[in-house]
Amino acid sequence: MTRVEHSEQTIKAAKYIQYGLKTRFISQETKLSAKYLRELFKDITGRAPLPGQLASVSTLLKTKKSLILCILLLTIYQQSAPSLATTSINLDRLIIVFDCFTKHINKLKNTQNQHQETMFTINNAWVLINALLNKEIQLSHCHCGCTIIITDSLPITLKCPFCSHAKPLRFKV
Ligand SMILES: [Zn+2]
Repeated sequence: MTRVEHSEQTIKAAKYIQYGLKTRFISQETKLSAKYLRELFKDITGRAPLPGQLASVSTLLKTKKSLILCILLLTIYQQSAPSLATTSINLDRLIIVFDCFTKHINKLKNTQNQHQETMFTINNAWVLINALLNKEIQLSHCHCGCTIIITDSLPITLKCPFCSHAKPLRFKV
């Protein structure tokens, strides 16, 4: 990597750090070393990056509330990315999708007058979109007309969170 490229990737990495993305995702995208990114993280936030495991897809789809959040996020992703042929996540697109998702959630909070923290992080969004790209989960339609998530490969039964129908029709969006 030339010095100019290194500087450009550092600027990109700084943006991803501010969004709270995991170092290893940033390293994959920017090709900067994990060690360098940890130092950059300290420069920006004043502390070391927190260790921590990523949530599993099954966990994200567990409760009715988080399942609805997942459906919203994937619907926004699919609208922003007509082709699902790629299997790797572009972090700039992820940020656009996550910003749009956050805007929707904040609007809902305002209308319902709720102020609780949405525990859905940008790293959760990465896990979820990764599962979609790797065909672990797919978007489909329930007979009630709502978009739902279906899976053949995860050991979980997904119900439509809107009508609770357990065996939705299986045709893709
Ligand atoms: Zn339904």
